[in-house]
Amino acid sequence: MYFVKKSIRVKDLIIGGNSNITVQSMTTTDTRDVKSTIEQIKRLEDVGCDIVRVAVLDLEASFAISQIKKNIKIPLVADIHFDYRLAIESIKNGADKIRINPGNIGSIDRIKKVVSAAKEYGVPIRIGVNAGSLAKDIVQKYGVTPKAMVVSALENAKILEDLDFYDIVFSLKASDVVKTIEAYTLIDKESDYPLHLGVTESGTKWNGIIKSSIGIGSLLARGIGDTIRVSLTSEPEDEVRAGIEILKALGIRKNGIQFISCPTCGRCKINLIEIANKVQDSLANVDKNIKVAIMGCAVNGPGEAKEADIGIAGGDKEALLFKKGKIIRKISEDNIVKELLDEIYKM
Ligand code: SF4
Repeated sequence: MYFVKKSIRVKDLIIGGNSNITVQSMTTTDTRDVKSTIEQIKRLEDVGCDIVRVAVLDLEASFAISQIKKNIKIPLVADIHFDYRLAIESIKNGADKIRINPGNIGSIDRIKKVVSAAKEYGVPIRIGVNAGSLAKDIVQKYGVTPKAMVVSALENAKILEDLDFYDIVFSLKASDVVKTIEAYTLIDKESDYPLHLGVTESGTKWNGIIKSSIGIGSLLARGIGDTIRVSLTSEPEDEVRAGIEILKALGIRKNGIQFISCPTCGRCKINLIEIANKVQDSLANVDKNIKVAIMGCAVNGPGEAKEADIGIAGGDKEALLFKKGKIIRKISEDNIVKELLDEIYKM
């Protein structure tokens, strides 16, 4: 059976229901270092991050949240392991959501205290199951399998549901892409809580983007998932950029610049790789709803450039510049990047 997911409010955003799929990332700074954390979150906001998570390792970090919150726009999630007091203090200090697994908190009294603070402040809880840290009894029964991850998520949710708490988001992450896909596919049929998609510990930028694109992308393509995080051993801005590109590639997110560039071949007589990279890097933070085509020659170039809002088709040490389907002018190779960017900024 397929469930329409519940709508969960996180500050002014909704996860689940029919809402847009949001892109998340996590800071790499020491949360107690308020200045650096705010600066990093602002950089994440600039590249389009919708929700940011910070690690809360001690009480000082939970107190820092109130200062951080005053200086950022996007919702903040406090990531907590084991210590229920950190969850309560993070909520009191303005966290918009917490990530904690009730099964790891300890006594039911402690869980009750966290749930009562979450209810009082209207803060949802993400239950983040990780294949690497499943409870021993579950592993004994099911092994480290997608089924085990689903059972763990549902058991954790049951603890909260028994306390009449239902503002729950699930994540079921594994570093193995196939296992991740299977776990999310299973739980999608079992529950109406929204799903935070991610492949965990997916690796350095290159490996991680490929693994996440396959894992997150194939789930989204089948209509599974409500919010995503691309985990990378890289700057968190890269996680956001990769997440947005995954959504754009699937046609889920239409705003922002869509790039088309050819792979180049023996017909190309300009340095297209350098031109394409320079143009894309320069436009990384430009929020325009346009399609840009950067093509190497007259074979497919004019067709794609005409179809796009703006584009170039390479010639011999020069290129034709197209805008809205029409040839605007010829540009010599050295000026392609500058003139193309100038025209895009005017749009
Ligand atoms: Fe080669 Fe031209 Fe196609 Fe680019 S557009 S791959 S240069 S044929």
